[in-house]
Amino acid sequence: MAERSLYETAVEQFNKAVKIMDLEPDLADVLRRPKRCLIVEFPVVMDDGHIEVFTGFRVQHNIARGPAKGGIRYHPDTNLDEVKALAFWMTWKTAVMNLPYGGGKGGIKVDPKKLSKRELERLSRRYFSEIQIIIGPHNDIPAPDVNTNADIMAWYMDTYSMNVGYTALGVVTGKPVDLGGSRGREEATGRGVKVCAGLAMRTLGIDTSKATVAVQGFGNVGRFSALLIAKELGSKIVAVSDSKGGIYDPEGIDVEAIIEHKKTQGTVVTYPKGQKITNEELLELDVDVLVPAALENAIHAGNVDNIRAKAIVEGANGPTTPEADEVLFKKGILVVPDILANAGGVTVSYFEWVQDLQAFFWKVDQIRAALEEMMTKAYEDVMKIKEKYNIDMRTAAYILAIDRVAYATRKRGIYP
Ligand code: NAD
Repeated sequence: MAERSLYETAVEQFNKAVKIMDLEPDLADVLRRPKRCLIVEFPVVMDDGHIEVFTGFRVQHNIARGPAKGGIRYHPDTNLDEVKALAFWMTWKTAVMNLPYGGGKGGIKVDPKKLSKRELERLSRRYFSEIQIIIGPHNDIPAPDVNTNADIMAWYMDTYSMNVGYTALGVVTGKPVDLGGSRGREEATGRGVKVCAGLAMRTLGIDTSKATVAVQGFGNVGRFSALLIAKELGSKIVAVSDSKGGIYDPEGIDVEAIIEHKKTQGTVVTYPKGQKITNEELLELDVDVLVPAALENAIHAGNVDNIRAKAIVEGANGPTTPEADEVLFKKGILVVPDILANAGGVTVSYFEWVQDLQAFFWKVDQIRAALEEMMTKAYEDVMKIKEKYNIDMRTAAYILAIDRVAYATRKRGIYP
């Protein structure tokens, strides 16, 4: 079979839902296409004085329900197709959560690990200036994604503010807490994954305090997912991994200790307890819950037959291919899809934006409680649709989301 691009994969998931919900074909065509795709080629002066030209992207997939919202990724393999897919998923993610947003995403094709801090800053500021023509607190509000963090968000916010001549805190989310950021934002995606893992176990009748969990990827999402699942659900984290490989310990891994280890050593694989495993082996472990929290296409036709987890909670965006989805559904493995499972980040980003616009900041307990309530509501809404049509949770989440965006589009009408 010819290789499918990530955007084509995303559209295939959408088409499956459209068929079941019987959406008007014309409207489906409007909703599946990105509204705007911006490509920017921009120069950066490197520390040794030479100039390098980088390629960046910002895609606004849909803004029918509100401003575009979505992260910015720095990765050597990032390309327009990937950013289009990620922006597409953001549209459905914000709609599943019923946030007043559309979907967007951005990226720069770069390996940030090869840049000095000053080079990273110049790259970030120039990129943000280049995409500023479509960015703003009421137009499009970026956030962190793979290899971007609160420091970079502070540079973005400052760059935008310098260009417009006033401080605009609400132009990006995921900022440092003392600079218009929100308490609870850093852990938010992991907290949402934890809520979904707990609910998935409840759905399957698994006792969370006796459950075993494997987490692939140990960045923002993987780290906080592992920590909160262990601390708040009492489950045993038996395996974690990063891009260099993983660690397996059937007795359970001390998540706080391995987070410290990764901080000082840069990887989990040199952690002294447990045995080394590959990322492939981690995915195939006999665990109750598997959390893929690294990159796309981790679970595919080639390894899906070996997946033994009872539930998969997608921390990453797009970790399961459509072929793998079919097999998982037939095997009765419950997949909590990315557009629901990892929506905790964008939900607290929404809280951050609201706090910035109101210049009034909330306590962390309020944020956590509001997030957990919204995640639980979204999970239950999706479950109802899943049961109504007897379909997988991903398709059910799409149906819920598409219905909301379709409603907004019909009500607004097609301009002019
Ligand atoms: P991050 O850069 O903080 O961490 C990524 C982690 O994945 C690192 O530990 C890295 O070593 C690991 N990794 C990279 N390639 C790997 C591979 N081939 N095998 C195993 N591990 C690998 O990124 P993040 O913010 O944690 O994002 C992870 C995923 O979650 C992405 O798909 C992202 O789009 C998605 N996501 C992030 C957020 C957020 O708030 N940060 C929200 C929703 C979804």
